[in-house]
Amino acid sequence: MSVIVCRAPGFPVRYILRCPTCKQRRRFAGRDYAWYGPTLTCRGCGDSWSNGERHDRPRRRGWRALEIAAAKELWDEAGHYTKADHDRWLMQEMGAA
Ligand SMILES: [Zn+2]
Repeated sequence: MSVIVCRAPGFPVRYILRCPTCKQRRRFAGRDYAWYGPTLTCRGCGDSWSNGERHDRPRRRGWRALEIAAAKELWDEAGHYTKADHDRWLMQEMGAA
């Protein structure tokens, strides 16, 4: 995943969703940001989405393989957390805890 400066650290999440690029259900992994919502990357094609909008594709060779590898790592990381962990994190981020 490309590094973006001044970004709040997100909570690792994973979902099975229909990928518009692959046109089938895929594993998606990414990070959830309390105020922005999740950014998710398809493990099939490497495309990423936020708020239903596909991110611009990187202009470099081999980016899909890199994005897919990063998404697999995030998928595994997200597997260490439960929905309750996520809810707790979100409440803290929102300042409601
Ligand atoms: Zn895909």
